[in-house]
Amino acid sequence: MKKNFRNKEKVKVAIRLRPYIDQDLPNNIGLEEQMVQDRHILYVQDDCTVVTNAKVKKAHRFDKVLDEEVTQQDLYEECEIDKYVDHVVEGYNATIFAFGQTGSGKTFTMEGYKYKMSETLNGFSQFESTPVAMTRQNENVGIIPRIVSELYEKIERVEFKKYRIYCSYLQIYQEKIYDLLNPLHSRKDYLQSNNNQQPEGLKLHFDVRNDRFNVDNLYKFECKNVKELMNYFHYGLKNKIMSSHALNEASSRSHCILSITVESIERENPDNIIVSTMQLVDLAGSERSSQTLNLDLGEYKSTKLKKEAIDINKSLFTLRQVVSMLNRSDGGKGKYIPYRESKLTSLLKHSLGGNSFCLMIACISPSSKFFNENISTLTYASKAS
Ligand code: ADP
Ligand code: MG
Repeated sequence: MKKNFRNKEKVKVAIRLRPYIDQDLPNNIGLEEQMVQDRHILYVQDDCTVVTNAKVKKAHRFDKVLDEEVTQQDLYEECEIDKYVDHVVEGYNATIFAFGQTGSGKTFTMEGYKYKMSETLNGFSQFESTPVAMTRQNENVGIIPRIVSELYEKIERVEFKKYRIYCSYLQIYQEKIYDLLNPLHSRKDYLQSNNNQQPEGLKLHFDVRNDRFNVDNLYKFECKNVKELMNYFHYGLKNKIMSSHALNEASSRSHCILSITVESIERENPDNIIVSTMQLVDLAGSERSSQTLNLDLGEYKSTKLKKEAIDINKSLFTLRQVVSMLNRSDGGKGKYIPYRESKLTSLLKHSLGGNSFCLMIACISPSSKFFNENISTLTYASKAS
């Protein structure tokens, strides 16, 4: 059953400036002094504005700007992430993604803690109890575990419906799709077979009836509670780490999408089933493609940088084109929106366009050594918004 049409909401864009970490500080200078220097060239002016001040002073405005004092809980509240959960429970699709260079805080924002490889390497049933880090009491927990807890709390409260929840988790690496929940896809022999050629990814096909792309043979598991869903998520995280070791690549070069599908079934009328999806995306680091990412479509088509953009990060480039078209005053209606030009945007099509709700969190670093990357992120985010 399709939900009624509603005016398309804009894709919201938030900026998050992370706090200093050890690597930001050169040896010869203390934090205080470093901050004075850095803040001269980039600072948060108010909760919608970041100012950059290199040769010229420039104010960049967004729906939300969060400074380094903002906790995980603050971010969740300030960006009203509970509303995205409500939308999904009501039958609409939603997407939340984190953008930025490697080290800017994307994974911290989405997951909130570093997964320790040493803990376990095999099997779904490793987590007998919910690890402390995953419960909402832990203040460093990121968006994903918070959303999962809230989702199950919210569906419990709806009396006239029952719900079924499924998850799948994949990564896109060099425009190929690998299933993070399929044990084969993280195995060294699989990833390194074929004379070190990159192994085949899963195929995408377009489902005309539902106007969306599906991934053939992607594992999808029903999850009866928070613990089950978080176990699959953690299992996928381990596979992500293992596969990047096998490919000798940093995991920061792939896009990871956790999809949570919610089926709601009316108790009185069980044929009435509404299906919605929440897609939670930790994007690849934007650093390698910063030069090409911020071109306009016309320039991009005609430049020799095109090849580089395609090879390095077609997905990020296309994502910006798609989001900026959706955010035009006409919502891109009647226009060609280039979803099909990358795997990422194909996969997100149904949860970016149409009736869906979407939030982009662009992460920046406080240190001036990343000034160019920060500018590139702010430019990307403002072109998208
Ligand atoms: P990315 O995923 O963009 O490469 P990470 O999320 O791994 O970046 O962050 C890089 C480092 O900074 C990690 O050690 C992370 O724990 C830390 N970090 C990032 N954001 C924050 C934050 N808001 N508060 C505290 N530490 C943070
Ligand atoms: Mg990361």
